[in-house]
Formats: sequence, structure tokens, C-alpha cells
Amino acid sequence: LEPKEEFSHKTLAMDVMRPRRSDPPLSVITQDGMSVEEVESLIAETSYSGFPVVVSHESQRLVGFVQRRDLVISIENARQRQEGVVSASRIFFTEYTPPQPPNSPPPLKLRGIMDLSPFTVTDHTAMDIVVDIFRKLGLRQCLVTHNGRLLGIITKKDILKHMAQMANRDPDSILFN
Ligand code: ADP
Repeated sequence: LEPKEEFSHKTLAMDVMRPRRSDPPLSVITQDGMSVEEVESLIAETSYSGFPVVVSHESQRLVGFVQRRDLVISIENARQRQEGVVSASRIFFTEYTPPQPPNSPPPLKLRGIMDLSPFTVTDHTAMDIVVDIFRKLGLRQCLVTHNGRLLGIITKKDILKHMAQMANRDPDSILFN
């Protein structure tokens, strides 16, 4: 087999990542402008372990990754202790916080809890390489991009499920994978 031909039959990151085509879109947080209330409902309505932070919904450019538990703890602390942080307060993951309009509640700065360099692969990366990276770096999740735009996420469990599925495949379908 030509190396190229072999590659075309391999499972790629895009085949394993979530969301699937029929799933709701990836749950992300924008780096500026979301309110405490909006982030709290995102936390309440989903059970994901973490959320990618993006520049904007339009750009889907990745800024970092924030763990669910760190978000929960920080918002709880801010509501209890930080002077004036309320539901309408804006959350910022940016380095600088723009001046807030008059009479708006104080912002909540959460850059400190964000992983600034989450591991990413492109959608065309072969899964055997992704699996290798997970093993060697002990990753829990990895983000998937295409031309710099965030497309999806692969967790350690997604990989384990994928491997189990491949092992259960009938021989005919394995020929094409
Ligand atoms: P695990 O895979 O260990 O259960 P999660 O609870 O974080 O970890 O993820 C559950 C499923 O949702 C996985 O299939 C994962 O790919 C997907 N997922 C994880 N985070 C997000 C997110 N922010 N938005 C959409 N899907 C996600």
C-alpha cells in the first residue's frame, strides 16, 4: 500500500470527536461578555467536565479551556465574597477588562482559572497518533480544530468507547477502517 492510500482508510480525529453531526453544538464560553447568570445556566444545563473558551461564537477561535469545577467554585466564591458580583456581572477571560458602562455591576475576572494552552489536534489527525498523545501526555481531553476554528472535543472516555467499538466490529467493516 502507498502510505497515502493507507492513510485514507484510517480513523481520524473528526470521526471520534464530539459533537456528532446530529448532536447539539459544542458548549463553549466566550472570552468576554457572558454574564454570571448565563454561565451558571450553562453549568446547570450540561454535565461536561469542562468548556472551551473562544474569542466569539462567530470566529470559534480557541482561547483556552476551563474546568467545570473551577468555574463553579470561582463563581460561588465571587458571589459570596467579592464586592458586588451578581447575576448580571460580566465574566472576562481576557487579560484586560474594558471599562464597564456606568451603573453596571463589577465584572468577574476568571483568566486565572483558564488553561491557556489546551492540547489540540486538527480534524485530519490520525486516531492512532491521538491515542499515542493521550497515553504519553496523560491527557483527559483534547480539542479538535480545522483552520484554527474549534470544531470539537475528544475525551479519554470517547477514545476508550471508540476502541471498544472497533474491537466489536465484524470483519467486513474492519476492512474499510
Ligand atoms: P467523559 O467523556 O469523561 O464523560 P465529559 O462529561 O466531559 O467527559 O464529556 C461527556 C461527552 O460530552 C463526551 O463524549 C465529550 O466528548 C462531550 N463533551 C465534553 N465537553 C463538551 C462540551 N463542552 N460541549 C459538548 N460536548 C462536550
